[in-house]
Amino acid sequence: MPNTKPRKQPCSICRTWFLPDERQKGRQKTCNAECRKERHRRQCQRWNRKNKSYFKDIYLNQKLERSTQPPPMQPPPSAIEKKAIPPPGSRLNLHLPYDVIVNEIGKRHLITLEYLIKQVVQHPRRNTAAFP
Ligand SMILES: [Zn+2]
Repeated sequence: MPNTKPRKQPCSICRTWFLPDERQKGRQKTCNAECRKERHRRQCQRWNRKNKSYFKDIYLNQKLERSTQPPPMQPPPSAIEKKAIPPPGSRLNLHLPYDVIVNEIGKRHLITLEYLIKQVVQHPRRNTAAFP
């Protein structure tokens, strides 16, 4: 194995020339910790753009999983109100007849529908970009 000395190379962030650590053996891309953090931030940003649906899948799957589990504490039957209650974990309260909707389409479909509505409402510009 040839014992080659590390050669100076430009930092991938600030473009200044630096001498990489011998132990890195050609893997070091940045000159210091600050540039390393910036490179990591850019790599994460690129990964998140490329894998937009990754965390959305996890979020929706966890929400649907939670809907099948029983709630942690049930109030006594006499204390249950007859008014419509949004599905568990819901952040939207659209004042809809949730009990009727749940009876008609089921809790899992309601959660999925609510998730889709939230995506459209929260990102109106991104979702209508194809229709200027
Ligand atoms: Zn640098």
